[in-house]
This record gives sequence, structure tokens and C-alpha cells, in this order.
Amino acid sequence: MGKALRTVNADLHCHSAFSDGTLEPEALAARAKANGVELWALTDHDELAGQRRARDAARAAGLPYLTGTEISVSFAGTTVHVVGLGFDAEDGDLAAGLAATRGGREPRAREMSEALAKAGIRGAYEGALKFVGNPELISRTHFARFLVESGVCADTQEVFRRFLVEGKPGFVPHRWARLGDAVRWIVDAGGIAVIAHPARYKLTPTEDYALFVEFKAHGGRGVEVVTGSHSAADALRYAETAREFGLLASRGSDFHSPGESRIDLGGLPPLPPDLSPVWEALEPRIQAPS
Ligand code: AMP
Ligand code: MN
Ligand code: MN
Ligand code: MN
Repeated sequence: MGKALRTVNADLHCHSAFSDGTLEPEALAARAKANGVELWALTDHDELAGQRRARDAARAAGLPYLTGTEISVSFAGTTVHVVGLGFDAEDGDLAAGLAATRGGREPRAREMSEALAKAGIRGAYEGALKFVGNPELISRTHFARFLVESGVCADTQEVFRRFLVEGKPGFVPHRWARLGDAVRWIVDAGGIAVIAHPARYKLTPTEDYALFVEFKAHGGRGVEVVTGSHSAADALRYAETAREFGLLASRGSDFHSPGESRIDLGGLPPLPPDLSPVWEALEPRIQAPS
């Protein structure tokens, strides 16, 4: 890779139209390359359908690639995301686990639409569907885009704040995968499991601590420290968690869409230099461009 692997511009978290991003894998690979990314992973929610195209596009762009996904998990009454990196994308148990996790999205979306109708917003299911690239992966993001398009809110942040988070009219509680199952699917497929953007969860300090204790006990090994979802203070806090729990550190923009995402692909600051980057431990799993 030319320079020391630990200092490369790694971006190991983003979304394509196979989940709730707006770009195709090929456009993401080209954008990552143009923005100076030197190691890339596509991490669609609960879905591997974009992996082959992402890997091929990365290879064509001269961009080293790691397989990725972001699994939705229920923990302590909230939703936690677990990123998997460097697994075998052909693994059957991982595919089955993700399919089961995706399966809850369709009925949830219909319930969300009914809830929004009670709040005076009609046709949200059909409206959201217009933004969906993958029929198995309807998400709150697609509802948010519909509410922006229909003029109810100015941007997707406002939609989440007013309608789609707990306590708001369009929020429907949902049971996702179990933490231990998600970690096991990733690890048994040869990958490393990483807690995504931990500062985003509404966990008490005790629950946050319990999350990392349980995650490690299940075989989880990494935490996102530098992400588009963290402030500089959040990054410092979870760098400390990485040290305390002996976790590998990850870095990813969580890029979804030009004009929607605050941080573009490749646009993050580096990891604190004393931390061990997760991608060093995944070196044998990096798919080099030939
Ligand atoms: P879902 O998996 O359907 O619950 O949707 C979760 C997705 O919604 C996340 O992956 C983000 O892309 C998006 N999201 C969650 N919270 C917010 C927020 N406050 N503002 C904008 N997007 C959000
Ligand atoms: Mn998302
Ligand atoms: Mn996430
Ligand atoms: Mn994400």
C-alpha cells in the first residue's frame, strides 16, 4: 500500500442505495478515490447485496477494499449498530441472520405510515417507497426524504427530530437482532465486529459500560472512535473506551448522500495515534486492487 498501513486514509463506514444511501456502489468507489480514501468499506444496513459491486468498483479504481455491513441490534431498550468488517461475503449464516433482521422492516414501515397518518401525514409508505433502492431495506431515512420532498420539513434532521425518534408521532418501537447474534454472525464469517458511533445512543453511563462489557464477552473487538456521527469530544471519550476495554479503533464517515451528510467520504481527522486501527488487524482480509 506504499505507506504504513496504520496511517492510511481509511473510511470504513458508508451507505449505498442498497440501504439508505443515495449513490450506487460504483459512484461511492469513485467518490472515495477522488476524495483521497486509501482503504474503503461499504457498510449497508443489514444487507450484503452491494458487496460484490463495491469490491469490483474498488478494484477498478485502484482502491483497497474490506467487506462491510452495519447490523441493527436491540440493546437496553434502544437501537445499537454493529459494524462488521473483513468477513467472508459468501458466508451463509451471516446472510441468513441479515435476512432475518431485514424481514422486520416492511411491517414496521407500514406501522410507521399508519402512525404518521394519525399525525395528519397521508401516503407516507408509498411516498417513502419512491426513495427506496432496495425493497427489503425501507428505512426511516426514506420516510425522512419523503417528508422533505412534500414540504413538511426543511431537511431530514428536522424530520427525525419532529417525527421519527422515540416519543415522536412516526416512531414505531422495533425488535432488531440480539447483540450476541450480530457479533457471532460477523466473527464466525471471519470478520471483526465494531460498535458503530457509540456517542449516538441514549444510554446511561452504566448501560454504555454494560454494552462494551457484553460486546467483548460475545467476541466484539472494535469501536468507532472517529466517525461522522461524533464530535471531537465524543471521539476523545470513546478513544478512552478503546483504551479501557483494549478495543481496536475504527474510522468511518457514515456517508449517506451528497448534500445530506455532514462529512464526506475520506473527510475525517485521523485516529489518535496511540490507538490500534482495526484495519491493521484485518490486513490479511484487505482485497488489494490487482
Ligand atoms: P432505521 O434503520 O430505519 O431505524 O433508520 C436509521 C437510519 O436513520 C440511520 O442509519 C441514519 O441514516 C438515519 N438517522 C437516524 N437518526 C437520524 C437523525 N437524527 N438525522 C438524520 N438521519 C438519522
Ligand atoms: Mn443510515
Ligand atoms: Mn448507524
Ligand atoms: Mn451507518
